[in-house]
Amino acid sequence: MKKILILGSSGSIGVNTLNVVRKFPDKFKVSGLTVASNINLLEQQVKEFNPEFVVVTDKSKARELKSKIDNLCEVLSGCDELVKVSKQRDYDILLGAIVGFAGLSPTLEAIKRGKRIALANKETLVVAGEIVTKLVLENNAEILPVDSEHSAIYQCLVGENLNEVEKLILTASGGPFLNKEKSFFENATVDEALNHPNWKMGNKISIDSATMMNKGLEVIEAHWLFGLPVEKINVVIHPQSIVHSMVQFVDGSIKAQLGLPDMKLPIQYALTFPERLQNDFKRTDLPMINTLNFFEPDFDRFECLKLAFDAIKIGGTAPCILNAANEVAVDKFINRKIKFSEISELISKALDKIENHSDPDIETIFECDKITRELVSSLK
Ligand code: NDP
Ligand code: MG
Repeated sequence: MKKILILGSSGSIGVNTLNVVRKFPDKFKVSGLTVASNINLLEQQVKEFNPEFVVVTDKSKARELKSKIDNLCEVLSGCDELVKVSKQRDYDILLGAIVGFAGLSPTLEAIKRGKRIALANKETLVVAGEIVTKLVLENNAEILPVDSEHSAIYQCLVGENLNEVEKLILTASGGPFLNKEKSFFENATVDEALNHPNWKMGNKISIDSATMMNKGLEVIEAHWLFGLPVEKINVVIHPQSIVHSMVQFVDGSIKAQLGLPDMKLPIQYALTFPERLQNDFKRTDLPMINTLNFFEPDFDRFECLKLAFDAIKIGGTAPCILNAANEVAVDKFINRKIKFSEISELISKALDKIENHSDPDIETIFECDKITRELVSSLK
């Protein structure tokens, strides 16, 4: 029986994780759940999964929940408690499904304890990939990717030698604006941008898919997870989202992992690796799907993808600047303060204006995140 601490249990990945846990009551036990403020869903989750504790980072929401379910489990509140439970409580696997930079601190604590981290929160690797991968090695921790592309690559690499990899091929659906002209981006609405053709996800990653920043963040994530130079990481557009990613080896052979666009499978794999457990999830019917297409990405229309490649090539704090600027810009777009086309403009400005630090320590990363947010918040 593995005990799981789920950070971000009310989100798209959190809910899907509980959908997996529900199927295997003799394999998994939920030790703790955390949310920012969605206490209505958390209350239902507590009643069903009976965790020992929950954390609600919004303190007034935590008080509200406490008054309702005090007798069922311990209710903790605030961001400090999020880090504390990761550092001190009893669990085997941390499922990191908080969105954004906020996922970094609790993940670092789990790594320091040598835990398995089933990592959905790609921003952790984007902003602090070098520090994180070094800590993983030092503490004998494990990162199992939940992101479907990285899960696919992980699965393709089982039994293989990393030195024999020629390149990683990350597939990208292209998002809702794949076939739109650049001029369309000027007036693209929030609802249009949130309307992803294949995946149902949280708001931030849905906007990142529309700008293709999501794929850029995934290139950086893959660079750190698999220890390969960015020159060996390619992106191809694959609108059907059936081939989740591929690895090409030095003899020219390509291995791919296929499946329906459903996060339950990569989540289950990250929880059970190296085992594969029988499940009753819907199977991929290839004759029904019939056609799989692949295209080159357009770096001119999807500037965020190019900015991400540039940032990882520059290295140092550039990916942290990229990430923080993106988080603030996406938030501004969702709140109708800027146009869709201004997201990439703000990120580009931040990368130009903020000084890059090579080989940053963790304090420098936190400082860089803070000053980038301040700058981008103040920009139009
Ligand atoms: P959601 O927005 O659906 O969920 C985010 C979760 O984190 C919620 O539980 C939310 O609580 C909580 N949360 C948000 N902000 C904070 C904060 N500042 N501090 C603490 N908790 C917070 O996101 P997703 O599930 O879509 O994505 C989660 C992560 O997984 C992201 O990093 C994303 O890139 C990655 N990912 C997601 C995929 C998907 O299919 N959704 C696929 C691959 C990767 P509340 O509900 O109370 O606000
Ligand atoms: Mg992905």
